[in-house]
Amino acid sequence: MPKVMVVGAGAVAQVTVCKLARRPDLFPEIVLASRTFAKCQKLAERYPQTRIIPEELNADDKAQTLNLIEKHRPVLVLNLALPYQDLSLMDACLEAGVDYLDTASYEPPELPLYEYKYQWAYKEKYEKAGITAILGIGFDPGVTNAFVAYAARHFFDEIHYLDIIDCNAGDHGLPFATNFNLEINLREITQNGRYYENGKLIEVPPLSISQDVRFPEIGVRKAYLIFHEELESLVKNFPTIRRARFWMTFSEKYLMHLKAFMNVGLTRIDAIDYEGHPVVPIKFLQKLLPDPAALGANYKGWVSIGVQLRGVYQGQPRTAFLYTNIRHEWAYQDCGSQAVAYTAGVPPAIAAELIVTGAWKKPGVWNVEELPPEPLLELLPAAGLPWKAVIDYPLDFIDIPQE
Ligand code: NDP
Repeated sequence: MPKVMVVGAGAVAQVTVCKLARRPDLFPEIVLASRTFAKCQKLAERYPQTRIIPEELNADDKAQTLNLIEKHRPVLVLNLALPYQDLSLMDACLEAGVDYLDTASYEPPELPLYEYKYQWAYKEKYEKAGITAILGIGFDPGVTNAFVAYAARHFFDEIHYLDIIDCNAGDHGLPFATNFNLEINLREITQNGRYYENGKLIEVPPLSISQDVRFPEIGVRKAYLIFHEELESLVKNFPTIRRARFWMTFSEKYLMHLKAFMNVGLTRIDAIDYEGHPVVPIKFLQKLLPDPAALGANYKGWVSIGVQLRGVYQGQPRTAFLYTNIRHEWAYQDCGSQAVAYTAGVPPAIAAELIVTGAWKKPGVWNVEELPPEPLLELLPAAGLPWKAVIDYPLDFIDIPQE
């Protein structure tokens, strides 16, 4: 039976490992490799029924990664560390002939602009090597891409408008915490908003566009337009899309803290000199704030993530909404996690199953919408992420033109 190697032992990895460990028939041995060995060891101890081998690894170092791959000979590397490690891990997998997946697109540490061009450049090499790379298989990106692919196959002849909506209506009772890695989260939110319209990428100042959106089970929340990487691949793979946008809700408390951090320079990503030592303010801030992997216990409330679509079917205008709603309490009960990390951590475990069993084994480098969506969406509910599709859904966005 194949061995897999998980890289990273944070909020998302702890959910993926929880799910992989429940399938000893498919994953009898899991190598868990991350920067901090103690975190790997602690997580491995949670699942004594499965052989989880903790290892220390700096995944920025390709030679170190290759040595570890050589030592354990996994068939798949699941990159659940940070986007900065994407390219070094893809290089190592290519050299070792091992399949690869991740949950976030590469961004250079010095430039908070994530784009797929760096990883798409590996397509031919992976094809020639006969190995599979799946990019962005969390929830958003990930399941949201599969929702669009599924809607394109089953509900529409053409999709024209796409709005991805993401709402965390939960409360952890703390003044401020991010639900996944703080540095990556704040880099994403504080950069300019971007969306696609008629083939162009439109750029607007950070958090300058918002709309009230009605989320199922939650009600109306203010959602802000931000850029998210799946927009880039979705407009490429579904060229009939005229406009594609991504919306995320933030509480007043979250925005108040964020603005204060920005105003005093704590979200800066460049090093400043502090008494002769270089200090990167955003990394310092991360050290002060709660670890997203430890937020689960007191978190309560809903998370809702979905895609709202408008297009045509058999000559008639049609709308559709595909979404998942889950509660933080359910995620905690299942895997000791909060729901945001849970939505991101369950899909990579399913993708690992689909790669090792062959349904998603396809040499090359793929975004999720390029793979058949049905196998993922069929396994999602039993894995803890139920989803629904509503046709002719009354779209919230007042600015979607009529067909
Ligand atoms: P965490 O910060 O909680 O965990 C990251 C882990 O990676 C930590 O264990 C960290 O080690 C480890 N790590 C960092 N650098 C290295 C390195 N050089 N070598 C080896 N290990 C390293 O982050 P999250 O779990 O919240 O997020 C993980 C990824 O998931 C991120 O890329 C994030 O963007 C993505 N994500 C995707 C979502 C989706 O839906 N697609 C949603 C949410 C997150 P240490 O413990 O020492 O810090």
